[in-house]
Amino acid sequence: MLRKVKNVIKLLKSVDFEQLEKISKKVDLPEVLGAVSKMDEGQLKMAMKMLTGGNKKRTPPPINADFYDVSAKLSETDRALQMRVRSFLESEVKPIVNKYWLHDEFPFEIIPKLAELNVCGYTYQGYGCAGGSSLMDGIIASEFGRIDPSIATFLGVQSGLAMGSIYLCGSDAQKQEWLPAMQKLEKIGAFGLTEPLVGSGTAGGLTTTCRREGDHWVLNGQKKWIGNSTFSDMTVIWARDLEDHQVKGFIVRKENPGFSVEKIKGKMALRIVQNGLITLKDCRVPESDRLVHANTFKDTAKVLQMTRAGVAWMAVGCARGAYENALAYTQEREQFGKPIASFQLIQNHLVEMLSNLTAMQTLVFRLSELQDEDKLKDEHASLAKVFCTMRTRDIVSRAREVMGGNGILLEYNVARFLADAEAIYSYEGTKEINSLIVGRSITGFSAFV
Ligand SMILES: Cc1cc2nc3c(=O)[nH]c(=O)nc-3n(C[C@H](O)[C@H](O)[C@H](O)COP(=O)(O)OP(=O)(O)OC[C@H]3O[C@@H](n4cnc5c(N)ncnc54)[C@H](O)[C@@H]3O)c2cc1C
Repeated sequence: MLRKVKNVIKLLKSVDFEQLEKISKKVDLPEVLGAVSKMDEGQLKMAMKMLTGGNKKRTPPPINADFYDVSAKLSETDRALQMRVRSFLESEVKPIVNKYWLHDEFPFEIIPKLAELNVCGYTYQGYGCAGGSSLMDGIIASEFGRIDPSIATFLGVQSGLAMGSIYLCGSDAQKQEWLPAMQKLEKIGAFGLTEPLVGSGTAGGLTTTCRREGDHWVLNGQKKWIGNSTFSDMTVIWARDLEDHQVKGFIVRKENPGFSVEKIKGKMALRIVQNGLITLKDCRVPESDRLVHANTFKDTAKVLQMTRAGVAWMAVGCARGAYENALAYTQEREQFGKPIASFQLIQNHLVEMLSNLTAMQTLVFRLSELQDEDKLKDEHASLAKVFCTMRTRDIVSRAREVMGGNGILLEYNVARFLADAEAIYSYEGTKEINSLIVGRSITGFSAFV
Protein backbone atom coordinates (compact mmCIF):
# COMPACT_ATOMS: atom_id res chain seq x y z
CA MET A 1 0.00 0.00 0.00
CA LEU A 2 2.85 2.35 0.98
CA ARG A 3 4.52 1.71 -2.40
CA LYS A 4 1.24 2.53 -4.17
CA VAL A 5 0.99 5.88 -2.34
CA LYS A 6 4.64 6.60 -3.24
CA ASN A 7 3.90 5.84 -6.87
CA VAL A 8 0.86 8.13 -6.89
CA ILE A 9 2.99 10.95 -5.39
CA LYS A 10 5.69 10.34 -8.00
CA LEU A 11 3.08 10.41 -10.73
CA LEU A 12 1.64 13.69 -9.44
CA LYS A 13 5.16 15.21 -9.30
CA SER A 14 5.66 14.40 -12.94
CA VAL A 15 2.49 16.21 -13.93
CA ASP A 16 2.82 19.55 -15.70
CA PHE A 17 0.12 21.64 -13.99
CA GLU A 18 -0.17 24.13 -16.82
CA GLN A 19 -0.93 21.25 -19.10
CA LEU A 20 -3.24 19.79 -16.50
CA GLU A 21 -5.26 23.00 -16.48
CA LYS A 22 -5.64 22.80 -20.25
CA ILE A 23 -6.60 19.13 -20.01
CA SER A 24 -9.14 19.88 -17.27
CA LYS A 25 -11.08 21.97 -19.77
CA LYS A 26 -11.44 18.93 -22.00
CA VAL A 27 -11.84 15.98 -19.61
CA ASP A 28 -13.51 15.31 -16.30
CA LEU A 29 -10.43 15.33 -14.04
CA PRO A 30 -12.11 14.02 -10.83
CA GLU A 31 -13.26 11.04 -12.89
CA VAL A 32 -9.69 10.50 -14.21
CA LEU A 33 -8.24 10.77 -10.69
CA GLY A 34 -10.84 8.33 -9.45
CA ALA A 35 -9.75 5.91 -12.15
CA VAL A 36 -6.07 6.42 -11.21
CA SER A 37 -6.80 5.63 -7.54
CA LYS A 38 -8.31 2.31 -8.61
CA MET A 39 -5.21 1.32 -10.60
CA ASP A 40 -3.03 -1.54 -9.40
CA GLU A 41 0.76 -1.10 -9.18
CA GLY A 42 1.47 -2.42 -12.66
CA GLN A 43 -1.10 -0.11 -14.24
CA LEU A 44 0.31 2.86 -12.30
CA LYS A 45 3.85 2.10 -13.49
CA MET A 46 2.59 1.90 -17.07
CA ALA A 47 0.80 5.27 -16.72
CA MET A 48 3.97 6.85 -15.31
CA LYS A 49 6.03 5.49 -18.17
CA MET A 50 3.54 6.92 -20.65
CA LEU A 51 3.56 10.35 -19.00
CA THR A 52 7.26 10.66 -18.29
CA GLY A 53 8.73 8.69 -21.18
CA GLY A 54 10.26 6.36 -18.60
CA ASN A 55 12.17 9.39 -17.19
CA LYS A 56 15.44 7.63 -18.02
CA LYS A 57 18.24 9.65 -19.61
CA ARG A 58 19.11 7.75 -22.76
CA THR A 59 22.67 7.32 -23.88
CA PRO A 60 22.69 8.62 -27.44
CA PRO A 61 24.35 6.51 -30.12
CA PRO A 62 27.93 7.53 -30.99
CA ILE A 63 28.12 10.23 -33.66
CA ASN A 64 28.97 8.70 -37.00
CA ALA A 65 29.42 11.26 -39.75
CA ASP A 66 30.93 8.70 -42.13
CA PHE A 67 27.51 7.10 -42.59
CA TYR A 68 28.40 4.93 -45.58
CA ASP A 69 31.72 3.95 -44.02
CA VAL A 70 33.88 5.47 -46.76
CA SER A 71 36.92 5.09 -44.50
CA ALA A 72 36.50 1.30 -44.69
CA LYS A 73 37.83 1.58 -48.23
CA LEU A 74 41.21 2.74 -46.92
CA SER A 75 44.12 0.40 -46.29
CA GLU A 76 45.16 -0.16 -42.69
CA THR A 77 48.19 2.10 -43.18
CA ASP A 78 46.07 4.90 -44.61
CA ARG A 79 43.49 4.50 -41.86
CA ALA A 80 46.29 4.76 -39.29
CA LEU A 81 47.52 7.97 -40.93
CA GLN A 82 43.98 9.38 -40.93
CA MET A 83 43.74 8.67 -37.18
CA ARG A 84 47.18 10.22 -36.56
CA VAL A 85 46.15 13.39 -38.39
CA ARG A 86 42.84 13.46 -36.51
CA SER A 87 44.51 13.03 -33.17
CA PHE A 88 46.99 15.87 -33.89
CA LEU A 89 44.14 18.17 -34.91
CA GLU A 90 41.96 17.25 -31.93
CA SER A 91 44.74 17.74 -29.40
CA GLU A 92 46.90 20.54 -30.85
CA VAL A 93 44.62 22.61 -33.07
CA LYS A 94 41.06 22.36 -31.79
CA PRO A 95 41.77 23.83 -28.33
CA ILE A 96 43.37 27.00 -29.73
CA VAL A 97 41.60 27.85 -32.98
CA ASN A 98 38.75 29.96 -31.64
CA LYS A 99 41.22 32.25 -29.86
CA TYR A 100 43.36 32.74 -32.98
CA TRP A 101 40.29 33.11 -35.20
CA LEU A 102 38.93 35.81 -32.91
CA HIS A 103 42.24 37.71 -32.89
CA ASP A 104 42.85 37.29 -36.63
CA GLU A 105 46.27 35.74 -35.98
CA PHE A 106 48.15 32.63 -37.10
CA PRO A 107 49.24 29.98 -34.54
CA PHE A 108 52.88 29.58 -35.56
CA GLU A 109 53.49 27.24 -32.63
CA ILE A 110 51.69 24.38 -34.38
CA ILE A 111 54.07 24.35 -37.37
CA PRO A 112 56.78 21.97 -35.95
CA LYS A 113 54.19 19.35 -34.95
CA LEU A 114 52.34 19.79 -38.23
CA ALA A 115 55.64 19.15 -40.03
CA GLU A 116 56.09 15.91 -38.05
CA LEU A 117 52.87 14.56 -39.59
CA ASN A 118 54.74 14.40 -42.90
CA VAL A 119 51.64 15.22 -44.96
CA CYS A 120 52.86 18.30 -46.80
CA GLY A 121 53.21 17.67 -50.55
CA TYR A 122 51.72 14.27 -49.78
CA THR A 123 51.19 13.10 -53.38
CA TYR A 124 54.47 14.28 -54.90
CA GLN A 125 57.24 11.83 -55.79
CA GLY A 126 60.70 12.58 -54.40
CA TYR A 127 61.98 15.72 -52.63
CA GLY A 128 61.14 14.18 -49.25
CA CYS A 129 57.44 13.90 -50.15
CA ALA A 130 55.42 10.78 -49.32
CA GLY A 131 54.38 9.93 -52.88
CA GLY A 132 50.94 8.94 -51.53
CA SER A 133 47.56 8.74 -53.24
CA SER A 134 45.30 11.67 -54.08
CA LEU A 135 42.57 9.87 -52.16
CA MET A 136 44.60 9.98 -48.96
CA ASP A 137 45.57 13.58 -49.67
CA GLY A 138 41.84 14.35 -49.85
CA ILE A 139 41.11 12.50 -46.62
CA ILE A 140 43.85 14.58 -44.94
CA ALA A 141 42.36 17.84 -46.30
CA SER A 142 38.97 16.76 -45.01
CA GLU A 143 40.34 15.94 -41.55
CA PHE A 144 41.91 19.42 -41.40
CA GLY A 145 38.67 21.04 -42.61
CA ARG A 146 36.71 19.14 -39.94
CA ILE A 147 38.64 20.87 -37.18
CA ASP A 148 39.52 24.18 -38.79
CA PRO A 149 39.11 25.37 -42.40
CA SER A 150 41.73 28.12 -41.83
CA ILE A 151 44.52 25.69 -40.95
CA ALA A 152 43.28 23.48 -43.80
CA THR A 153 43.63 26.49 -46.11
CA PHE A 154 47.14 27.24 -44.80
CA LEU A 155 48.14 23.68 -45.67
CA GLY A 156 46.28 23.82 -49.01
CA VAL A 157 48.21 26.94 -50.04
CA GLN A 158 51.56 25.55 -48.89
CA SER A 159 51.19 21.98 -50.09
CA GLY A 160 48.90 22.45 -53.10
CA LEU A 161 49.17 25.91 -54.65
CA ALA A 162 52.75 26.87 -53.80
CA MET A 163 54.55 23.49 -53.78
CA GLY A 164 52.26 22.31 -56.60
CA SER A 165 53.29 25.21 -58.86
CA ILE A 166 56.95 24.31 -58.37
CA TYR A 167 56.32 20.56 -58.65
CA LEU A 168 54.32 20.89 -61.89
CA CYS A 169 56.06 23.89 -63.50
CA GLY A 170 59.51 24.22 -61.92
CA SER A 171 62.96 23.11 -63.08
CA ASP A 172 64.79 20.38 -61.21
CA ALA A 173 67.04 22.97 -59.55
CA GLN A 174 63.97 24.92 -58.37
CA LYS A 175 62.39 21.73 -57.06
CA GLN A 176 65.61 20.78 -55.25
CA GLU A 177 65.89 24.19 -53.66
CA TRP A 178 62.30 24.57 -52.47
CA LEU A 179 60.36 21.32 -52.20
CA PRO A 180 62.32 19.49 -49.45
CA ALA A 181 62.34 22.60 -47.23
CA MET A 182 58.68 23.34 -47.92
CA GLN A 183 57.74 19.72 -47.29
CA LYS A 184 59.21 20.09 -43.79
CA LEU A 185 57.53 23.50 -43.42
CA GLU A 186 60.94 25.09 -42.89
CA LYS A 187 60.08 27.38 -45.79
CA ILE A 188 56.58 28.71 -46.34
CA GLY A 189 55.04 29.47 -49.72
CA ALA A 190 52.17 31.49 -51.15
CA PHE A 191 50.44 31.69 -54.53
CA GLY A 192 49.66 35.06 -56.14
CA LEU A 193 47.18 34.95 -58.99
CA THR A 194 44.20 37.16 -58.04
CA GLU A 195 44.46 40.93 -58.43
CA PRO A 196 42.48 43.78 -56.88
CA LEU A 197 40.64 44.37 -60.14
CA VAL A 198 40.83 40.89 -61.68
CA GLY A 199 39.50 37.84 -59.82
CA SER A 200 37.36 35.48 -61.87
CA GLY A 201 38.80 36.80 -65.11
CA THR A 202 42.46 35.96 -64.48
CA ALA A 203 42.68 33.55 -67.46
CA GLY A 204 42.50 36.35 -70.00
CA GLY A 205 42.71 39.49 -67.92
CA LEU A 206 45.85 39.51 -65.72
CA THR A 207 47.19 43.04 -65.49
CA THR A 208 50.39 42.26 -63.55
CA THR A 209 53.17 42.38 -66.09
CA CYS A 210 56.63 40.93 -66.55
CA ARG A 211 59.32 42.22 -68.85
CA ARG A 212 62.64 40.54 -69.61
CA GLU A 213 65.79 42.63 -69.07
CA GLY A 214 68.93 40.57 -69.70
CA ASP A 215 69.09 37.73 -67.18
CA HIS A 216 66.34 39.31 -65.04
CA TRP A 217 62.60 39.92 -65.25
CA VAL A 218 60.90 43.08 -64.03
CA LEU A 219 57.46 42.61 -62.43
CA ASN A 220 54.86 45.32 -61.89
CA GLY A 221 51.33 45.11 -60.50
CA GLN A 222 49.31 44.05 -57.46
CA LYS A 223 47.97 40.76 -56.09
CA LYS A 224 45.07 40.57 -53.67
CA TRP A 225 43.94 37.93 -51.17
CA ILE A 226 47.24 36.03 -51.21
CA GLY A 227 47.11 33.49 -48.36
CA ASN A 228 50.25 33.05 -46.17
CA SER A 229 51.94 35.93 -48.03
CA THR A 230 52.40 38.15 -44.97
CA PHE A 231 54.99 35.69 -43.61
CA SER A 232 55.89 33.42 -46.53
CA ASP A 233 59.50 32.96 -47.67
CA MET A 234 58.41 33.05 -51.27
CA THR A 235 55.31 33.72 -53.35
CA VAL A 236 54.60 32.26 -56.77
CA ILE A 237 53.56 35.29 -58.84
CA TRP A 238 51.66 34.94 -62.10
CA ALA A 239 52.23 37.78 -64.57
CA ARG A 240 51.62 38.54 -68.24
CA ASP A 241 54.69 38.86 -70.46
CA LEU A 242 54.61 42.24 -72.21
CA GLU A 243 56.29 40.66 -75.22
CA ASP A 244 54.35 37.46 -76.05
CA HIS A 245 51.30 38.30 -73.83
CA GLN A 246 51.43 34.85 -72.23
CA VAL A 247 51.10 34.21 -68.49
CA LYS A 248 54.34 33.23 -66.79
CA GLY A 249 55.10 32.14 -63.22
CA PHE A 250 57.88 33.43 -60.94
CA ILE A 251 59.28 32.51 -57.55
CA VAL A 252 59.45 35.85 -55.78
CA ARG A 253 61.45 35.83 -52.57
CA LYS A 254 60.29 37.89 -49.59
CA GLU A 255 63.55 39.87 -49.44
CA ASN A 256 63.27 40.82 -53.10
CA PRO A 257 63.39 44.63 -53.48
CA GLY A 258 60.21 45.88 -55.09
CA PHE A 259 58.09 43.25 -53.30
CA SER A 260 55.88 44.44 -50.42
CA VAL A 261 52.88 42.97 -48.58
CA GLU A 262 50.12 44.55 -46.56
CA LYS A 263 47.88 42.37 -44.40
CA ILE A 264 44.19 42.37 -45.36
CA LYS A 265 42.23 43.11 -42.20
CA GLY A 266 38.56 42.86 -41.26
CA LYS A 267 37.71 39.45 -42.79
CA MET A 268 34.61 37.67 -41.48
CA ALA A 269 35.81 34.25 -42.67
CA LEU A 270 39.02 32.18 -42.44
CA ARG A 271 40.36 34.78 -40.05
CA ILE A 272 43.39 32.66 -39.12
CA VAL A 273 44.59 32.69 -42.74
CA GLN A 274 46.85 35.68 -43.24
CA ASN A 275 45.84 37.17 -46.58
CA GLY A 276 47.97 39.87 -48.13
CA LEU A 277 47.75 42.63 -50.68
CA ILE A 278 51.04 42.38 -52.59
CA THR A 279 52.57 45.27 -54.49
CA LEU A 280 55.25 44.59 -57.11
CA LYS A 281 57.08 47.74 -58.04
CA ASP A 282 59.85 47.19 -60.58
CA CYS A 283 60.43 43.92 -58.74
CA ARG A 284 63.51 42.27 -60.30
CA VAL A 285 63.47 38.48 -60.42
CA PRO A 286 66.36 36.45 -61.85
CA GLU A 287 65.63 34.23 -64.85
CA SER A 288 66.66 31.30 -62.62
CA ASP A 289 63.52 31.98 -60.50
CA ARG A 290 61.12 31.86 -63.46
CA LEU A 291 59.08 28.64 -63.47
CA VAL A 292 60.46 27.09 -66.63
CA HIS A 293 57.42 24.97 -67.45
CA ALA A 294 54.84 27.73 -66.93
CA ASN A 295 54.45 29.21 -70.37
CA THR A 296 50.71 29.92 -70.71
CA PHE A 297 47.69 30.15 -68.41
CA LYS A 298 47.01 26.47 -69.20
CA ASP A 299 49.96 25.63 -66.96
CA THR A 300 48.49 27.72 -64.14
CA ALA A 301 45.19 25.89 -64.69
CA LYS A 302 46.93 22.51 -64.13
CA VAL A 303 47.80 23.64 -60.61
CA LEU A 304 44.25 24.89 -60.04
CA GLN A 305 42.70 21.62 -61.22
CA MET A 306 44.68 19.74 -58.59
CA THR A 307 43.93 22.17 -55.77
CA ARG A 308 40.21 22.51 -56.60
CA ALA A 309 39.82 18.81 -55.85
CA GLY A 310 41.47 19.52 -52.49
CA VAL A 311 39.04 22.37 -51.78
CA ALA A 312 36.10 20.02 -52.41
CA TRP A 313 37.52 17.64 -49.77
CA MET A 314 38.13 20.53 -47.40
CA ALA A 315 34.49 21.57 -47.78
CA VAL A 316 33.47 18.02 -46.83
CA GLY A 317 35.52 18.41 -43.65
CA CYS A 318 34.02 21.81 -42.86
CA ALA A 319 30.49 20.41 -43.29
CA ARG A 320 31.35 17.37 -41.20
CA GLY A 321 32.74 19.44 -38.35
CA ALA A 322 29.59 21.57 -38.25
CA TYR A 323 27.30 18.52 -38.47
CA GLU A 324 29.06 16.63 -35.68
CA ASN A 325 29.02 19.61 -33.32
CA ALA A 326 25.39 20.38 -34.10
CA LEU A 327 24.24 16.78 -33.64
CA ALA A 328 26.03 16.51 -30.28
CA TYR A 329 24.39 19.76 -29.20
CA THR A 330 20.89 18.60 -30.11
CA GLN A 331 21.37 15.43 -28.09
CA GLU A 332 22.29 17.45 -25.00
CA ARG A 333 20.13 20.55 -25.28
CA GLU A 334 16.70 20.17 -23.76
CA GLN A 335 13.57 22.20 -24.42
CA PHE A 336 10.02 21.37 -23.30
CA GLY A 337 11.63 18.77 -21.01
CA LYS A 338 13.16 16.76 -23.85
CA PRO A 339 16.39 16.73 -25.86
CA ILE A 340 15.77 18.80 -28.97
CA ALA A 341 17.16 15.88 -31.02
CA SER A 342 13.88 14.09 -30.23
CA PHE A 343 11.83 16.68 -32.14
CA GLN A 344 10.76 15.75 -35.65
CA LEU A 345 11.63 19.12 -37.17
CA ILE A 346 15.16 19.02 -35.71
CA GLN A 347 15.65 15.47 -36.99
CA ASN A 348 14.60 16.66 -40.43
CA HIS A 349 17.45 19.22 -40.40
CA LEU A 350 19.93 16.60 -39.17
CA VAL A 351 18.93 14.09 -41.83
CA GLU A 352 19.14 16.67 -44.60
CA MET A 353 22.61 17.59 -43.36
CA LEU A 354 23.72 13.97 -43.27
CA SER A 355 22.24 13.24 -46.72
CA ASN A 356 24.22 16.05 -48.28
CA LEU A 357 27.35 15.17 -46.34
CA THR A 358 27.14 11.54 -47.42
CA ALA A 359 26.61 12.53 -51.06
CA MET A 360 29.64 14.82 -50.83
CA GLN A 361 31.82 12.14 -49.22
CA THR A 362 31.03 9.56 -51.88
CA LEU A 363 31.48 12.12 -54.67
CA VAL A 364 34.94 13.25 -53.56
CA PHE A 365 35.96 9.65 -53.01
CA ARG A 366 35.31 8.89 -56.69
CA LEU A 367 36.88 12.23 -57.68
CA SER A 368 40.14 11.17 -56.07
CA GLU A 369 39.97 7.73 -57.62
CA LEU A 370 39.78 9.47 -61.02
CA GLN A 371 42.76 11.61 -60.01
CA ASP A 372 44.74 8.52 -58.98
CA GLU A 373 43.82 6.85 -62.29
CA ASP A 374 45.10 9.98 -64.06
CA LYS A 375 41.64 10.57 -65.54
CA LEU A 376 40.73 13.77 -63.73
CA LYS A 377 39.52 16.58 -66.00
CA ASP A 378 38.94 20.25 -65.17
CA GLU A 379 35.18 19.74 -65.26
CA HIS A 380 35.38 16.88 -62.72
CA ALA A 381 37.27 19.06 -60.25
CA SER A 382 34.98 22.04 -60.92
CA LEU A 383 31.79 20.01 -60.43
CA ALA A 384 33.06 18.68 -57.11
CA LYS A 385 34.11 22.16 -55.99
CA VAL A 386 30.72 23.65 -56.88
CA PHE A 387 28.62 20.86 -55.41
CA CYS A 388 30.57 20.42 -52.18
CA THR A 389 30.91 24.11 -51.35
CA MET A 390 27.23 24.76 -52.13
CA ARG A 391 26.06 21.84 -49.96
CA THR A 392 28.50 22.87 -47.23
CA ARG A 393 26.88 26.27 -47.08
CA ASP A 394 23.52 24.58 -46.57
CA ILE A 395 24.87 22.20 -43.92
CA VAL A 396 26.64 24.86 -41.82
CA SER A 397 23.57 27.04 -41.98
CA ARG A 398 21.32 24.23 -40.71
CA ALA A 399 23.92 23.39 -38.04
CA ARG A 400 23.68 26.96 -36.80
CA GLU A 401 19.89 26.88 -36.99
CA VAL A 402 19.43 23.80 -34.80
CA MET A 403 21.64 25.43 -32.16
CA GLY A 404 19.47 28.53 -31.86
CA GLY A 405 21.29 31.53 -30.40
CA ASN A 406 24.28 29.45 -29.32
CA GLY A 407 24.88 28.73 -32.99
CA ILE A 408 26.39 32.17 -33.42
CA LEU A 409 28.75 31.88 -30.44
CA LEU A 410 32.32 30.84 -31.30
CA GLU A 411 32.62 28.62 -28.22
CA TYR A 412 29.93 26.26 -29.55
CA ASN A 413 32.12 25.39 -32.54
CA VAL A 414 29.70 25.95 -35.39
CA ALA A 415 29.84 29.72 -35.96
CA ARG A 416 33.42 29.47 -37.26
CA PHE A 417 32.41 26.83 -39.83
CA LEU A 418 29.43 28.96 -40.84
CA ALA A 419 31.63 31.96 -41.56
CA ASP A 420 34.51 30.01 -43.10
CA ALA A 421 32.21 28.22 -45.57
CA GLU A 422 31.62 31.59 -47.23
CA ALA A 423 35.28 31.98 -48.20
CA ILE A 424 35.63 28.36 -49.34
CA TYR A 425 32.55 28.91 -51.52
CA SER A 426 34.25 31.83 -53.31
CA TYR A 427 37.95 31.03 -53.53
CA GLU A 428 39.64 28.81 -56.14
CA GLY A 429 36.94 29.78 -58.61
CA THR A 430 33.48 30.97 -57.60
CA LYS A 431 30.36 28.88 -58.09
CA GLU A 432 29.65 30.74 -61.33
CA ILE A 433 33.11 30.24 -62.82
CA ASN A 434 33.29 26.54 -61.94
CA SER A 435 29.71 26.09 -63.25
CA LEU A 436 30.77 27.70 -66.53
CA ILE A 437 33.64 25.20 -66.79
CA VAL A 438 31.22 22.28 -66.28
CA GLY A 439 28.61 23.93 -68.54
CA ARG A 440 31.13 24.25 -71.37
CA SER A 441 32.08 20.61 -71.01
CA ILE A 442 28.52 19.20 -71.05
CA THR A 443 27.00 21.47 -73.72
CA GLY A 444 29.96 22.09 -75.99
CA PHE A 445 29.28 25.86 -75.76
CA SER A 446 31.54 28.21 -73.85
CA ALA A 447 29.40 30.73 -71.98
CA PHE A 448 32.40 32.67 -70.64
CA VAL A 449 32.05 36.34 -71.52
C1 LIG B 1 39.88 34.00 -48.01
C2 LIG B 1 40.37 34.05 -49.40
C3 LIG B 1 41.60 33.52 -49.72
C4 LIG B 1 42.11 33.61 -51.02
N1 LIG B 1 43.37 33.15 -51.28
C5 LIG B 1 43.91 33.38 -52.50
C6 LIG B 1 45.28 33.05 -52.77
O1 LIG B 1 45.99 32.52 -51.91
N2 LIG B 1 45.78 33.32 -53.99
C7 LIG B 1 45.03 33.89 -54.98
O2 LIG B 1 45.56 34.10 -56.06
N3 LIG B 1 43.74 34.22 -54.75
C8 LIG B 1 43.16 33.98 -53.55
N4 LIG B 1 41.84 34.32 -53.30
C9 LIG B 1 41.07 34.98 -54.36
C10 LIG B 1 39.93 34.15 -54.89
O3 LIG B 1 40.40 33.13 -55.72
C11 LIG B 1 38.96 35.12 -55.59
O4 LIG B 1 38.30 35.83 -54.57
C12 LIG B 1 37.97 34.44 -56.49
O5 LIG B 1 38.60 33.87 -57.60
C13 LIG B 1 36.88 35.42 -57.00
O6 LIG B 1 37.42 36.59 -57.47
P1 LIG B 1 36.88 38.00 -56.91
O7 LIG B 1 36.80 37.91 -55.44
O8 LIG B 1 37.72 39.06 -57.49
O9 LIG B 1 35.39 38.12 -57.44
P2 LIG B 1 34.92 38.65 -58.87
O10 LIG B 1 35.69 37.99 -59.95
O11 LIG B 1 34.89 40.14 -58.87
O12 LIG B 1 33.44 38.10 -58.93
C14 LIG B 1 32.33 38.73 -58.27
C15 LIG B 1 31.07 37.95 -58.62
O13 LIG B 1 30.84 38.00 -60.05
C16 LIG B 1 30.71 36.68 -60.55
N5 LIG B 1 31.24 36.58 -61.92
C17 LIG B 1 32.44 36.99 -62.37
N6 LIG B 1 32.57 36.69 -63.68
C18 LIG B 1 31.42 36.09 -64.07
C19 LIG B 1 30.92 35.54 -65.29
N7 LIG B 1 31.66 35.52 -66.40
N8 LIG B 1 29.68 35.03 -65.31
C20 LIG B 1 28.93 35.01 -64.19
N9 LIG B 1 29.33 35.49 -63.00
C21 LIG B 1 30.56 36.02 -62.95
C22 LIG B 1 31.53 35.83 -59.59
O14 LIG B 1 31.16 34.46 -59.66
C23 LIG B 1 31.19 36.48 -58.25
O15 LIG B 1 29.95 36.02 -57.81
C24 LIG B 1 41.32 34.21 -52.03
C25 LIG B 1 40.06 34.71 -51.70
C26 LIG B 1 39.59 34.64 -50.43
C27 LIG B 1 38.24 35.24 -50.12
